[in-house]
Order: sequence, then C-alpha cells, then structure tokens
Amino acid sequence: MRRQSSCGKIVVMVKVATQWVRDILGTLYQRRTITRPEIIESTRLNPASVSHALRALLESGTILKIGELESHGGRRRELLSLNAEAAYFVAVDLEGTRVRFALTNLVGDIRCRFGGDLEFGQQLEIGTILDGIQAVLQSLDPIQLSRVLAVGVSHPGMEDQQGRITAVNLNWFDFPLLEALQSSLDLPVFLEDAHRTCILAERWLGAAQESDNCMYVIVGNGIGVGGFVDGHLLQGHEGNAGELGHIVIDPDAPDLCKCGKRGCLEAVASCPNIVRQYFESADHDVSHLSGYRVPEVFERARQGDPDALRAVRRASKYLGLAFSYLANLFNPEVIVIGGDIVHGQDLVLPIVREELSRYALPRSNSGLEVKVSSLGLDIGLRGAAALAFRRSLGNSALLRKMCSPLSAVHRRVRRTGTKTRAKLTDATAAK
Ligand SMILES: [Zn+2]
Repeated sequence: MRRQSSCGKIVVMVKVATQWVRDILGTLYQRRTITRPEIIESTRLNPASVSHALRALLESGTILKIGELESHGGRRRELLSLNAEAAYFVAVDLEGTRVRFALTNLVGDIRCRFGGDLEFGQQLEIGTILDGIQAVLQSLDPIQLSRVLAVGVSHPGMEDQQGRITAVNLNWFDFPLLEALQSSLDLPVFLEDAHRTCILAERWLGAAQESDNCMYVIVGNGIGVGGFVDGHLLQGHEGNAGELGHIVIDPDAPDLCKCGKRGCLEAVASCPNIVRQYFESADHDVSHLSGYRVPEVFERARQGDPDALRAVRRASKYLGLAFSYLANLFNPEVIVIGGDIVHGQDLVLPIVREELSRYALPRSNSGLEVKVSSLGLDIGLRGAAALAFRRSLGNSALLRKMCSPLSAVHRRVRRTGTKTRAKLTDATAAK
C-alpha cells in the first residue's frame, strides 16, 4: 500500500539510482576506461544496481561503449568510458600572475582557452573575469552552450563561507567574488582555493590517481597544501586547512613573513624569498630584485655559485622539514610538488628527501613518494574543471542535466536556435 502512492515510490527509486549514478560517473571520471566488473569492484555497488544505472547512462549517451576485451572464459567484457562531449564546464584559473579561462569537456580536456598576464599585486577587476567567461561562452555553438553545466574557479588566497576572497597578490581583501559572478551569470559558480583545486586535478587526472592519501604542495609566490586523507578532501572548520606557508618552521629565523610573523615556511622557502636570500647573502644591490626570478637562482646554483647554493639549500631543508610534518600528521603515500620550485627540482628534491628521512618517523616515510606535478601550467584549469565536475555530481539538477539524453537536447536546440555558431578548437595555449 505504500506503493499505491506512485509518487512516493518514484521518489524513492530516483533517490537510490542517483547515488548509483554519482558513484559510477565519479569512477569513470577517474579511471577513464573501465569494464563493468571493475565498476562493480570500485563502487562496491551490487551488480544489478550497476546494470540498471549503466543501461540508463548508455541510453542517454552520457557514457559510451568504446570496445570489448576478451576475458579468460571466452566471454567478452565491454569497455566503457564517459562521453567526453556530453557536457562542458567553464574553468577559470586566477593564478596570481596570470588569469586563464577555458572550456573543458566532461572529462577535463581543454577545448579552447583565453588568458592574459597580471601584474603582481595589481587589483584584478571583476569585469576582466566576466569578459573571459563570456569569451569562452561566445565561442560555442547552441548545442554546446546548452550542455555547459557550471563555472569552476581556482583562486589564490583565502575564502570565507560567503565566497569572499582575500588574496594579496590580486589586491583583494574580502572581495565578494561568488556574489559578483553569480549575479552576472546564468550558470552555477563553484570556487575553491588553488591548493585544493590542484590536489583535485592530481588525484583525478595527474600524479596521485587512485590514491586516497595524497598531498599537493605548491611552492611559488606562496606555499600551501591541499590533500586527501582517507579519501576525504581536507577542508578545515572555516575552509582554511592547508596554510602550510604560515607554519613557523624556525622561530629563531629573522625572515619576516607577509603575515607579520618571523620564520614562517613561506618567508624562508617561497620562490621570491629564495631570490631575496640569494641577493642578501651575495650582498648584491637589492634594487634588481623585482626583475629576478627563481629559475635564474637555480641556474647560478648549478654553475656552482656558493651564494645561490646556500639559498637553495636553506629553502630545501626547511621544505623537507615541513614535509616531515605532513608525513607524520597525515601519513600520505604521495606528496606532489608544484609551482615555480619545480624549475629547480634536480637541486631541491634530493635535499627534501634527505630531510624527510631524517625527521619523519620511519613508518611514515617508508613508501612515501615525492613526485613532481605532471600537469604543468594547466593544473589550475584542470583542477577548476575537476571541481566543477565533482560539485555537479553532488547537485541533483546539474546531475540530471549531465545525464539528459543528448538527442533530445539536440532536437530542442535546433527548434529554438540562436545566433552564435563557432567550432571549438584546441587553440594555441595562452601563456
Ligand atoms: Zn606567515
């Protein structure tokens, strides 16, 4: 009799199936190409639930059968993948020295992009961000436009619960980014700080795939960490977990941090501070400092310049000590390192590993891999796309749109029609 309310029955069925769909799409996003038994093993759903959900997803065109594998018993196993063109996201990377915009498909591949340089500390205007997003949207044809689900934004600095950002390098103090974007766009907007978007990209698309315990440490103008612990993204009570740059790594160090304390990790090991230490120890004219970048210090160290070697060694030792804290606290199996520091990976990483084995507990250090990010300059965009995908899975309306039958959308768009029509291209990378 509970079933005589057909309405109630449907609600229950959809609810259960939605979770199956989320689990399956999340698995396909990470694994790219997978067989049905592997989906069952990975999601731990029962085979009937998986079959039910896969049938619906194949019918809607959200996933595709892309081939078959011969199995030992002679029975063929289907190879399945997401339909990369089933939906799109706008990805925005406000890196601090550059701003990048891209259209990504469902699996995070960049289909077109726009971008430009920013001057450090120059205020980034909201109009610049909106213009970049509009440039992406205007490059789409009506069918593609109808399948854009959301905007994902990777930003530097700290974000409060209302989506206000404080980022010194963008000259933003409680800047209401979320409100400003949502009031001007017809798409949902998701924000996340760069440490976390980078670990999302590394875990879903890069060097930390299939790892439930992994960290991404960015060492650039600032230092921060994003991480997964037991499969959960580290967020913190106020969303501020990961401010690794402002742990005091040496209370006796004279180096003054921009947060006002002395001896923060950022003050001794961020890239601008490696340059500063080189100039100070070399007793050079510091007026040259603004035009000097860390790759040049690394190059001088390779040539045997003792002042450059000293600056790089000091920063690397502090980084290694900080990594030992991460190892002991979170016991990750991989720490991925990114940012401009990777220009000196040949100099920095051996010292970091040495310090790790000196200071981390042997059980925390054994089996811990320290890797360099493989996603290059696109990591912020790929992370913003991974963020938008992940949040869309958790939003019932967006999930329905992601899984809506492609053919129906095509018919609807052709009837209503709009003017913009441009082919997507893998345009030349913006800087
Ligand atoms: Zn600090």
